Amino acid sequence: MSTQTVSGSKGLLQKEELIFDIGTTETTGVDLPEPKGRKDRLGGLKRQDGTGLPGLSEPQAMRHYVRLSQKNYAIDLGLFPLGSCTMKHNPRLNEKVARMPGFADIHPLQPQQTVQGAMEVIEQLEDWLKKLTGMPAVAMSPKAGAHGEWCGMAAIRAALIDRGEVETRTRVLVPASAHGTNPATAVQCGFKVQEIAAATDGRVDLNDLKAKLEGDTSDVAGIMLTNPNTCGLFERDIKEIADLIHEAGGYFYCDGANFNAIVGRVRPRDLGVDAMHINLHKTFSTPHGGGGPGAGPTVLSERLAKYAPYPVMTVDKRDGDYKLIYVDDEAELAGTDLKPLGRMCAFHGQMGMFTRALTYMLSHGADGLKQVAEDAVLNANYIQARLKSVMSPAFEGYCMHEALFSDAFLKDSGIETVDIAKGMIDEGYHPMTVYFPLVVHGAMLIEPTETESKAELDRFCDSLESVAIKAKSGDEALKSAPYLAPMRRLDETLAARKPVLRWTSEMSQTAQ
Ligand SMILES: *Cc1c(COP(=O)(O)O)cnc(C)c1O
Repeated sequence: MSTQTVSGSKGLLQKEELIFDIGTTETTGVDLPEPKGRKDRLGGLKRQDGTGLPGLSEPQAMRHYVRLSQKNYAIDLGLFPLGSCTMKHNPRLNEKVARMPGFADIHPLQPQQTVQGAMEVIEQLEDWLKKLTGMPAVAMSPKAGAHGEWCGMAAIRAALIDRGEVETRTRVLVPASAHGTNPATAVQCGFKVQEIAAATDGRVDLNDLKAKLEGDTSDVAGIMLTNPNTCGLFERDIKEIADLIHEAGGYFYCDGANFNAIVGRVRPRDLGVDAMHINLHKTFSTPHGGGGPGAGPTVLSERLAKYAPYPVMTVDKRDGDYKLIYVDDEAELAGTDLKPLGRMCAFHGQMGMFTRALTYMLSHGADGLKQVAEDAVLNANYIQARLKSVMSPAFEGYCMHEALFSDAFLKDSGIETVDIAKGMIDEGYHPMTVYFPLVVHGAMLIEPTETESKAELDRFCDSLESVAIKAKSGDEALKSAPYLAPMRRLDETLAARKPVLRWTSEMSQTAQ
């Protein structure tokens, strides 16, 4: 059966050209009368040529964007197995609450007395985050996980400045399996990164860590560790690691992106953590991907709490009013020991995400959140168990919230991890995370999350199993997959390294 059509469309999906190729600069979708008798007030600044933007009718514009949206895979379409991303269902209740006019129609420049309800939402969310992590303070303004890492490391830097040790304590230890944002953040904050090796069981190599903390530790600023780590495993020695880093005079930054696996079960403060970001868009179901805003509140221990950035939330003792204190109101902090490290962004953070996250927490309750972690871990272990006879689990034993496979089962087949990923596209699934973490050869990292039913997990496993069996048998056809997607194999490296972000007329009809 040929998969080619004359139109380029497939099934009920229409082929779509670039918007510049559909519309022309000569046409327009609106019909306005020529302005009469109005004096041009732009003088010499008047535009001499056209804008170059294509004119489209309303149905043309509508169809263009709807067709593009159909080419997008979404969590509302199916299981999204991307490991390390926690692509869970975004409950519609969250959306409903976030769209209530009292939340949706307010502006950050409004007088604070008129937005007390919104500020109470921030305070309640702060309270939940502090309780769930056991931490005394939280900075709400960071707008993503990586931004939260920056906040936490900047707090550590502020503490070192206070101790008069910022010039000497410059070494930050980062495990080999870390998310790329960790070393990037450390460097961005002026630290030097030292890598800690991974042990054969996928966890931090404690002996390597001890060796790196032997002798003079006066240059140690801290450690950045993910727990559960990016191999989907709980760091068993985490208490000992925390003690070692504290004895060396450093701080423990925990990357909390994988909090979904332990929320309600483990309090990071009890593990000795000093700072940790929480991705609301992962653990607390606010939408992510596709350019939506994230939110990365960062919890801080007693040792770092006073360096939390502006704005600082206070409650007026006299009238019970909430107040956000910004840099300009610094005087109001007189008499406290607060020393904000500065400001992370304009205003207070992502209000729409705060509203969604708090709705999610309140609708689950404390017991429900605990069950989230349990079900997320159960689902990942179900996938690992179902696929382990066909594929190669990267490590022995149970996993946490994600199942990690290596490409060992593809040995001598001529097929690689990337071919399996492309084969999954033909099966109707967004591929899992591939080639990450780097410590596992040809890694395939699958995080189903707790929101998938057993039936859905089975459907996914049936597909992946069939692709894996084809791969093992050396089925050459996989090397050219996907066959059914609107686009086949693209040069992803070129697209990442040399993205073409600007359309020029020479590109017309050639960008296929
Ligand atoms: C997602 C993730 C991050 C970064 O979070 P963003 O919100 O994408 O900036 C950092 N570390 C780990 C382990 C992650 O999974």
